[in-house]
Amino acid sequence: MAQVRPTHPHYEADMLSVEDARERILSFFRVLEAEEKPLLQALGQTLAEDIRSPFNLPQWANSGMDGYAVRAEDIAGASGSSPRVLPVMGTVAAGQMPARRLEPGTAVRIMTGAPVPPGADAVVAFEDTDELERKASGRGVGEIGIRKAEPKGASVRPAGEDVRAGEIVLARGVALSPAAIGVAASVGRTSARVVRRPVVAVLSTGDELQLPGEDLAPGKIYDVNGYSVAGAVLKAGGIPNVLGIAPDDPAAMNAKISEGLQADVLITSAGVSKGDYDFVKDVLGERGSVEFWSVRMRPAKPLAFGLLRGPFGRQVPHIGLPGNPVSALVAFEQLCRPALLKMQGRTRLDRPVVDATLEDAIRNTDGRRVYARVRVSRRDGEYVARLTGPQGSNVLTPLSRANGLAICPEDVPVLNAGDKAKVQMIDWPEEAML
Ligand code: AMP
Ligand code: MG
Repeated sequence: MAQVRPTHPHYEADMLSVEDARERILSFFRVLEAEEKPLLQALGQTLAEDIRSPFNLPQWANSGMDGYAVRAEDIAGASGSSPRVLPVMGTVAAGQMPARRLEPGTAVRIMTGAPVPPGADAVVAFEDTDELERKASGRGVGEIGIRKAEPKGASVRPAGEDVRAGEIVLARGVALSPAAIGVAASVGRTSARVVRRPVVAVLSTGDELQLPGEDLAPGKIYDVNGYSVAGAVLKAGGIPNVLGIAPDDPAAMNAKISEGLQADVLITSAGVSKGDYDFVKDVLGERGSVEFWSVRMRPAKPLAFGLLRGPFGRQVPHIGLPGNPVSALVAFEQLCRPALLKMQGRTRLDRPVVDATLEDAIRNTDGRRVYARVRVSRRDGEYVARLTGPQGSNVLTPLSRANGLAICPEDVPVLNAGDKAKVQMIDWPEEAML
């Protein structure tokens, strides 16, 4: 494969590219086991079986209109000025079966969705009959005047139009949407086998943190990442197990990590930059392996990745996100979300990317891939992207206003206003663009 030659003056060769970091992480994740779940609870999960229909759908030819079932040949040439008058042999409502065959030269009153009687091959809508006038004049509908010559098959929905008996209606690997659980219900299912959701332990670390709801002591800040990362886990289909805060103290950290090892993956934040790295290394190193990476991205350069010894000899992957709230979420988006989707049996792991024209410049000062927080909108049929505020990794509100991350590539020192950029749409599901 051709090497991309980095041209940025500050390029550091020993940093991992975002792709390499992602591949390394993904290699430790597998698709989780299947579970049987009631359909509604399985919404959003990946189907772990093929669902077949035991019957044709619809099961019988049925009416597409409220009207009169007839033989097309009996109403040939009918019009407003020359109606065909037919005796009405009964009514079929939705949910009933027709009592008998339709005899030539007769009609049966029929409702939408009701089975078309054998012998009938067309339905004429009420509007194209003289039913209203007959009712208004008190004559009743013992017979009916047909005012339109409908062809064979008119307003008749054939049996098996949607699905043939035995056909797969939902294939393994499909993410269950509202329409998909409707399809499962239409073939009589109440539950489905789906890939279970991953349980993700979320741990915030740092002596400066306190939980919202408490009075802030001097010098302390509220724990942001416990909420934001757990929210991102939920949005990615995972089940967060929020462990709270571990102060920078080995005993406290060890106790929290023990709790986290019940999960499928442990995500911590902070303690991975040069300052407190050694402490985290000591604590995690005793419970498995841990590596500290520099990823060629901004924000979120420092990252820890490890494998911890869990219960029953299970290895529990650990991803250590940087502490700054924007870094934590951007690293989650690039590196954790794909892993959670992979565990759920998804094959599309990337957000949709659009080409947008920048309204502000994005600067790349040191040869890392920049993920700038932007709001994408459409103007004259084109996407435009505007920065949502200051781009410091500690400044969170601009990310809360962003719907995209605009990328300035590693080897591009600046993208100016008016330039095109690729933008990852962080509020679009990965299926949004095909
Ligand atoms: P650290 O990686 O521990 O050096 O943290 C980097 C920065 O992120 C520091 O300013 C921390 O106070 C901040 N930080 C770390 N964890 C959190 C958190 N859970 N919520 C808000 N800020 C945090
Ligand atoms: Mg810290």
